[in-house]
Amino acid sequence: MNQTELKKLRKLLLEKRDDLTQVVKSKKERDLQDVEIGDEIDSASQSVEKEILFELTDNEKVMLDNIESALSRIEKGTFGKCESCGQKIAIPRLEALPWVRYCISCQAKTEKA
Ligand SMILES: [Zn+2]
Repeated sequence: MNQTELKKLRKLLLEKRDDLTQVVKSKKERDLQDVEIGDEIDSASQSVEKEILFELTDNEKVMLDNIESALSRIEKGTFGKCESCGQKIAIPRLEALPWVRYCISCQAKTEKA
């Protein structure tokens, strides 16, 4: 995989992560509008980050976890390899689902199990 493809996939991952967190953040911001804004703003926004996890559905949590994991694999330079068999994951598959951890054949095995 070349750098251009990697950058493109990284951007997709970041956008998807933003989508997931934004929904919850906008909800939280509405809740927080009544809260007095002052010196506590930093700790307040930190607790919002934590609470995001409680607002997400299980599917969204798994997705977010997969996205974080894919982004860290990009940092480490191991992105695009199947976590199970170590084979390269096909680029069209990554373009459709950049957060996938497994190649098609390993995915099929886990879904049957
Ligand atoms: Zn595999």
